[in-house]
Amino acid sequence: MGEGKTGKKPPSLTPMMRQYEGVRSGLPPNTLLLFRLGDFYELFKGDAEQGAEILGITLTQRHGMPMAGIPYHAADNYVGKLLRAGKKVAICDQVETPRPGTIVKRALTRILTPGTILEDSQVEAHRNHYLLAINHYKGRLDSAWMDLSTGEFQIASAHKADDLLPVFASLDPREIIVPEIARNRWEENSEDGQWAAQFDRIANGRPISTLPDYHFSPTSGAREVVSALNVLNLQGFGVPADHPALGSAGALVYYATENLCQRPGNLRRIRIYATDRALLIDPVTLRNLEVFRSAQNLRHGSLLDAMDATVTAAGARLLEKYLAEPPLDLAELEHRQQLVGEFLEVPGVASELHDSLKKTRDLPRIVGRLQNRIRNPRELGGIRDTVAQIPSIIRCLAQFDLPGIGGLRNRIWDFSNLRDLFESALVEELPPKLQEGGFIREGFDEELDRYREFARGHKAWISELERSEQERTGIRNLRIRYNNVFGYFIEVTKSNLKLVPENYIRKQTMTNAERFYTDALKIREKEILHAEEKSIALEEERFRDLVAAVLTQADPLLETAQSMAEIDVYLGWAKRAREWGYCRPTVDDSNEISIEQGRHPVIEQMLRQEPYGLADTRTFVPNDTDLRSSDAQIHLVTGPNMAGKSTYIRQVALIVLMAQVGSWVPAKSCRLGLVDRIFSRVGATDELARGNSTFMVEMNETANILNNATNRSLIILDEIGRGTSTYDGLSIAWAVVEQLHGAADQGPRTLFATHYHELTQLEQLLDRVFNYCVAVKEWNDEIIFVRQVVKGASDRSYGIQVARLAGIPRTVIDRAKVILERLEADDSSHNLIRRRIKKLQTSGEEITEVDQMELF
Ligand code: ADP
Ligand code: MG
Repeated sequence: MGEGKTGKKPPSLTPMMRQYEGVRSGLPPNTLLLFRLGDFYELFKGDAEQGAEILGITLTQRHGMPMAGIPYHAADNYVGKLLRAGKKVAICDQVETPRPGTIVKRALTRILTPGTILEDSQVEAHRNHYLLAINHYKGRLDSAWMDLSTGEFQIASAHKADDLLPVFASLDPREIIVPEIARNRWEENSEDGQWAAQFDRIANGRPISTLPDYHFSPTSGAREVVSALNVLNLQGFGVPADHPALGSAGALVYYATENLCQRPGNLRRIRIYATDRALLIDPVTLRNLEVFRSAQNLRHGSLLDAMDATVTAAGARLLEKYLAEPPLDLAELEHRQQLVGEFLEVPGVASELHDSLKKTRDLPRIVGRLQNRIRNPRELGGIRDTVAQIPSIIRCLAQFDLPGIGGLRNRIWDFSNLRDLFESALVEELPPKLQEGGFIREGFDEELDRYREFARGHKAWISELERSEQERTGIRNLRIRYNNVFGYFIEVTKSNLKLVPENYIRKQTMTNAERFYTDALKIREKEILHAEEKSIALEEERFRDLVAAVLTQADPLLETAQSMAEIDVYLGWAKRAREWGYCRPTVDDSNEISIEQGRHPVIEQMLRQEPYGLADTRTFVPNDTDLRSSDAQIHLVTGPNMAGKSTYIRQVALIVLMAQVGSWVPAKSCRLGLVDRIFSRVGATDELARGNSTFMVEMNETANILNNATNRSLIILDEIGRGTSTYDGLSIAWAVVEQLHGAADQGPRTLFATHYHELTQLEQLLDRVFNYCVAVKEWNDEIIFVRQVVKGASDRSYGIQVARLAGIPRTVIDRAKVILERLEADDSSHNLIRRRIKKLQTSGEEITEVDQMELF
């Protein structure tokens, strides 16, 4: 009979265990199976042992078989924990309504993996969740990525891995899929040593899943993609049928299908990611500039966070995507800046608009779940609550009466039909599970109302029976109960058994009680179960109708969602621009970066928040910048420790990045010739947060800059050459500047902060190198930071003064001064270079490369 029955020995598998084994045997490695048993999900055998350990739940034994269970209602929480522990989680559910006395049908309904989650309880609302597939073959890198929760789907190929690594870093994928055999080859380094190292950097501890290599074949991939998108061919998306990255795209579709246990239903388009159409920022630079995460690896303190004034999850995700993909398209940037400006025009309405947006829910993900048949009444509630806000959103937008905002307004649909439908169909408070019923409003469906009425009547009959039986038998604690296995029964405790009347029929014996039924109860049970089943079935039918009504409008809903997300981003940027006095930058084809009174967008905000002030001042001191690749190409920024060098050079890069995503910027004015790549390098000892800050890594990354920078690039170098002895370091730094300057008439715009004063001599040797320093004032042998960047070289390092500020004892400071004087008296390196340059200059000779090399 049922699964609750306990036999003595397990000679052969019970029907239920046969079900279990059937599902379990087909699962991929590293997967735990949650098997639905009544009100629990059970884990068995090895899964139970692992699960109990990860989840901290009790491990039990049954016939010597380990088991561990989690309550069905709390499953989301446990599933999340297993995923975070790096496991995949397979769900085997009951796929029919359980009836007393029969074994319920079960089936694998879902495998959750970090890259394919879309359930409301598992996704991070404000983050995109990319699943990335990569293949590297004969020097070419093919890749595809999708966010299954929103249906975003892209492919990219490159002949140089360096062109795609920045993209992968920005995507921050949750899971990576690679071909099985190829991966072994990469690991053995037999293919390409450099690629193996690059792959490790992409993987960087992320979960990796493998698929047999044939899933990466471009021909079958193209077929998979065509059928997933439900189109005849990919021409409409501008994707050639033989695009090599279709292999990776096909692998993604296959993998998603396996895990959803059905074809993904929300893939609508595929796009080729063109690396030459976006500003590329390599992973190291993203980290140095703290674009997505701070040095402490938190969102707080990052540029993303400083720019984020969104109030919806979809808006926050769009902002993240904008930062990951800054367009090299002047018209698009112009359009975005224009919208920020328009939203600044009517501040009162802006805040009203914010209030309405706040009340909307995550449409793209809700629609995505409904399309993937992950369905529950609350998802419909999310759509209901969102479309309810649309009239007021439209009303707000109309008040602006400006062209850009008008364009956004035109992409918002009305959905009055859905509003009416939800109004009449759904109750206010919706249950989380479909099977529980009770979400369709009374009066929406006559038949449903009738069955509900029956069920209520029967239940009243049961409680009346309980009362009358208590009276008739004199058993005060007689109870009528229900469970899935035995249905309705009358329970009488052992002490009262003598009072049990004739017509009670024994059903089951418990430790403290006996369970009975009567013929009348049996008949009622049938009727009740029938009415309940019928009403649940009817509700499910109505639910399907409602979902269908929503899905016929999936495209307009998604277009509306996209428009609302854009509004959220621009409105947020307008808010920041107003709060912090940002200006609208001019972005063009020129070769300059000229910033008047620029500020660091993150530190500026932090200084104001910090209650006791970080340093000597609480307001950020603005600074100007004037870089041009054709003349003022390289700025060497010197100044004592703590003067503000690092802050200054980073602020320039961040302002550039903000301008190139279309935002306004923290400056009085800003003119910017498009930047194609931003590179940055931080000297080994300056890089606090990283463990492996070896000199080698530093040199590797410097090599990357020298090899990939173009005349349109921006380079931020902070104290490079520090990880080795002084002369080594100085020589390398010197040579790097020479190389960046080069022999041609222009080069990448570069800001180089350094404590090597010797480098400032380069201003005299190279045309486009200029010295700047962060000024400090001396007062009574004390140092005062003024945070101002001025022309010229700093002549001293003021290390001793800074040391005193830091609280080094007086005796040590005094002694250090004596030593410094002695050292300065015979500083050979300094003097050698000075003498050499003087000699060259006075003799009027041209300075040759050989001379430059000989300077050391
Ligand atoms: P350096 O690189 O020269 O050693 P930093 O750039 O690290 O100095 O700056 C040291 C501290 O000075 C920073 O933590 C910051 O709080 C403060 N600071 C830097 N620049 C400014 C500025 N323009 N206005 C106000 N405070 C600043
Ligand atoms: Mg510094």
